[in-house]
Amino acid sequence: MKKHYLLTPGPTPVPEEVVKTMAQPIIHHRTPEYRDIVKTVNENLKKIFKTENNVLTFTSSGTGAMEASVVNALSKGDTAIVVRGGKFGERFAEICVSYGVNVVPLDIEWGTELKPSLIEKALKENPNTRAVFTQLCETSTATVYDVRRIASVVEKTGAILIVDAISGLGADGFNMDEWGVDIAVGGSQKALMLPPGLSFCAVSKKAWSMIKQSSLPKYYHDFNKYEQLVDKGDSPWTPAITLVIGLEKALSMIMKEGVDKFVEGHAGDAEFVRKHIKDLGLELFSKSPSDAVTAVKVPEGVDAAKLISSLKSKGVMFAGGQARLKGKIFRIAHMGGITRRDLEFALDKLKETLGEQKWQ
Ligand SMILES: *Cc1c(COP(=O)(O)O)cnc(C)c1O
Repeated sequence: MKKHYLLTPGPTPVPEEVVKTMAQPIIHHRTPEYRDIVKTVNENLKKIFKTENNVLTFTSSGTGAMEASVVNALSKGDTAIVVRGGKFGERFAEICVSYGVNVVPLDIEWGTELKPSLIEKALKENPNTRAVFTQLCETSTATVYDVRRIASVVEKTGAILIVDAISGLGADGFNMDEWGVDIAVGGSQKALMLPPGLSFCAVSKKAWSMIKQSSLPKYYHDFNKYEQLVDKGDSPWTPAITLVIGLEKALSMIMKEGVDKFVEGHAGDAEFVRKHIKDLGLELFSKSPSDAVTAVKVPEGVDAAKLISSLKSKGVMFAGGQARLKGKIFRIAHMGGITRRDLEFALDKLKETLGEQKWQ
């Protein structure tokens, strides 16, 4: 089969070893064999999130865990500050509104950094805030936020900090416990090198005290049900056994390399892509670029849709812009199983395709 270069910010390529592991005959989940796998997965997930807290694993794409963080932590009428610097920030706000949470939107220009002083100001103006929602990497703009500094602001208040780290986890540095993040949300199809279908929430003690009082409706993603079983390697419902088995393999590959090395590798690849983009005379969109994905401004005279479809016909898949950025940017992911060689090949094809579109 011809190699297909899937350089999109989810899904990302799944390494062959992981694919092979998932191709094994299915096993039952209420067995010591499977529970041992889950226990190993849980310990390794803690190392990825950098936390002593339990990491709960759900069967859903990332949005399911985003919703879970809202319904498990909050009650109807609670006030939440929601950072909206792109499509995923908007998604958190939409979920909150769906459940009757009083949203204080914190709108920042798309593609710019999130200043901790803005969070500080919003918290002062809304002293009854129960939660602050933000991304680690806002994938729609390829922007990384300084979660460490944001956490140090939120930590001093009664509010909890809920971070959508779905695309950033494993690619942009993240340290849940040291930074003081209360709920960290992850997903399988980004840097963790799996197909879509698993999502994660790591939950702090401060968050648990709020979860105990939460009255929003929940059933399938009820944290309490998962928490009671997590140490036994069990889950309330049938888990996505195959994906969890794949996750054990993917995490063991990351552990072998070392979590910090794995993250540093992303920084190197991101720098490599950014340099090449600039060398091609192109401009980065984000003023605070993430190491998971790079957003590039579509140059004058180039049709973004044509560029992307032409690259796709050459086997290279980039993502376009979403919402208001449609036609204005394209995005190159460099996370998880995407290798330096893949990036070299893709950037070569980009240069070639831009040439064909008579740019320069
Ligand atoms: C991919 C992604 C999500 C989750 O999207 P799903 O399609 O539900 O997996 C959420 N937030 C961010 C920042 C993402 O990159």
